[in-house]
Order: sequence, then C-alpha cells, then structure tokens
Amino acid sequence: MSTTKAPPPVHPDVSIVRLHGEACFWCGAAHTTLIPAGSVSAPAGGSLRIWYIVACPAHADRRPR
Ligand SMILES: [Zn+2]
Repeated sequence: MSTTKAPPPVHPDVSIVRLHGEACFWCGAAHTTLIPAGSVSAPAGGSLRIWYIVACPAHADRRPR
C-alpha cells in the first residue's frame, strides 16, 4: 500500500472519555470489557488528532466510518 488512509472524522462534540478509550465509543459504557475498535480523527487543541477508541462487547464489531 502506498497511501495511508486517514481515520474517519467524528463530531467534535463527542465525549472526551470515548476519544480517550476510557468508555465504549458507541454507547459510553465504561464498567465492562473494552476492546480496541480502531481509530477516528477529531479536533483537539486546534488541530486534527487521531484517537484510538474502544468498544464494549455489544459494539465490538462496530467500526467508525
Ligand atoms: Zn457499547
């Protein structure tokens, strides 16, 4: 592959704990098993930043797009 695909952008109002991987990106569940669920891009400190998100078991197959 010669190009790197940027993660899909998310709405800047998304909860910061979801971007930090401390809660399920989709439903906000925090007190459960959290599985790496890919990455998204969202504004942070005036620039676009890549965030590695997590998902609860119910949303384990869901990916940002
Ligand atoms: Zn969830």
